[in-house]
Amino acid sequence: MTLPSPIQQIKHPLFSDNKLKVFIKRDDLIHPIISGNKWRKLKHNIHFAKENGYLGILSFGGAYSNHIHALAYAAKEQGILSKGIIRGEQHYQHNTTLSQAIRWGMSCDFIDRKTYRLRQDPDYLARLQLQYPDYFIVPEGGSNILALPGVGEVITELKTQVDFDTLMLPVGSGGTLSGLIQADKNQHNILGIAVLKEAHHIKEQVQSLLAQCDIRKDIKENTSEHVKWQLFENFHRGGYAKFNVEDEQRIYQFVQESGITFEPVYSGKMLLALLDLISEGYFKQAQTIVLLHTGGLQGLNGLIEQKKLSTSLSI
Ligand SMILES: *Cc1c(COP(=O)(O)O)cnc(C)c1O
Repeated sequence: MTLPSPIQQIKHPLFSDNKLKVFIKRDDLIHPIISGNKWRKLKHNIHFAKENGYLGILSFGGAYSNHIHALAYAAKEQGILSKGIIRGEQHYQHNTTLSQAIRWGMSCDFIDRKTYRLRQDPDYLARLQLQYPDYFIVPEGGSNILALPGVGEVITELKTQVDFDTLMLPVGSGGTLSGLIQADKNQHNILGIAVLKEAHHIKEQVQSLLAQCDIRKDIKENTSEHVKWQLFENFHRGGYAKFNVEDEQRIYQFVQESGITFEPVYSGKMLLALLDLISEGYFKQAQTIVLLHTGGLQGLNGLIEQKKLSTSLSI
């Protein structure tokens, strides 16, 4: 584990022309296999499962899920079992993501898309818990309230690393964004970039996670009152894991210029949003912006396997 994760400045003419300083916090370097933000979210979940006598963790994901991949490896490392409830057919067990997860000891159940939609339904979850009583059930993406304190350590680390105005991150299920908001306590602007279409429910998910935390803490500090965070819903580029050739080219060019690998599902969409927002004059001059590189580079292999890339994006 490389913690605290390193921070580095990115130099680019667009940044200096606009009198902006841009840093990147390299959570992608925390661990060679476990995707950065997934490690932070899983940490307290795994601890909780062990403390409470569960034999393993059960969670949900798509066939190329960073979360499933990270869970399989982290569980193996921490000496507990893992089970993946996977959207799609059995043959996905041979793909690059799941074949590794299975090699690390994860067992997978494959379910159809309709059943997968029940993944937050209390009755469905109760039945699953009866079927697998020894497993602690963690939602898709690892985004429950146990995820928040792990993510909050990003803020603790940043305080010792750089003075900044704005923190930007890609947003899927909202767990990472919630953890940052909770730990930040209104000190910085936090800009989430939704990577999927119709992201309105994510805002509710964030508010609900923050409210649950406030209740646990008897509302001593009401984090749902954090007013300096925003979720941008217009930078999804067509939907989850969708991007066009031009998007890919722009990411590729930036990878070449910066020497930092971005993938087009999460970190690349955050990057394109940053470039677009700067071009629109969104940021005040002399601001310092920190990008959170959430990891996810295993997903690049999945995109290559699915022939969704026309260039090799990595450096
Ligand atoms: C899962 C993931 C995200 C999204 O995090 P949420 O907490 O689900 O919003 C962002 N980046 C990467 C690389 C991820 O794997």
